Amino acid sequence: MMGLLAAFAALWVSAKNLFRPMTTEPLPWKGRRELPARYRTSFALVHDEHGDEACIGCKMCEKICPSHIIVVVPGGRANSEKTGKPRGWCKDFTLDLNACIHCELCIQVCPADAIVMLRDADTPAFSREELFLTMERLYANEKKAQSWGTGAKLIGMQEPPKPPKPEAPKAAPAPDGATS
Ligand code: SF4
Ligand code: SF4
Repeated sequence: MMGLLAAFAALWVSAKNLFRPMTTEPLPWKGRRELPARYRTSFALVHDEHGDEACIGCKMCEKICPSHIIVVVPGGRANSEKTGKPRGWCKDFTLDLNACIHCELCIQVCPADAIVMLRDADTPAFSREELFLTMERLYANEKKAQSWGTGAKLIGMQEPPKPPKPEAPKAAPAPDGATS
């Protein structure tokens, strides 16, 4: 008898929920609900203000990644065709999103603001290969909405506040009857 009552109670809850308005968002994301300011998902590599690929192949992101999922192949130093100045280049870059814990450390250490996270709902993937980000995929992601965080901004947030300037010592009052 108790079992039958419990079954009816469960059916009643299910029946009530059939007529409630939907509270979840279907995928792929249609952007009907505003994303939180710090929402971040996948990654992009970006170009600098001169139009060069910003990554200098320094491997800082690879070294700091706690999941060991970034592989950078440096491309050596050469002059930029855009600026004529020598700089480092990246030959190949891969990031395996399957094991990313979204700690953002790779973004924080980047001295060139070359890697950023996306503020864009992820397209569902149906295989592990789709979550393996090649250099080509990372540069294609540059067109998507990007998170506000760059290496320079995130490092700037960690700088301790500057101490207030010490007040200038007040001039001692002249003794009574003193003449200048
Ligand atoms: S956000 Fe992902 S890729 Fe970047 S350091 Fe953290 S685990 Fe590695
Ligand atoms: S993305 Fe940034 S940290 Fe990583 S290799 Fe390129 S320049 Fe260095």
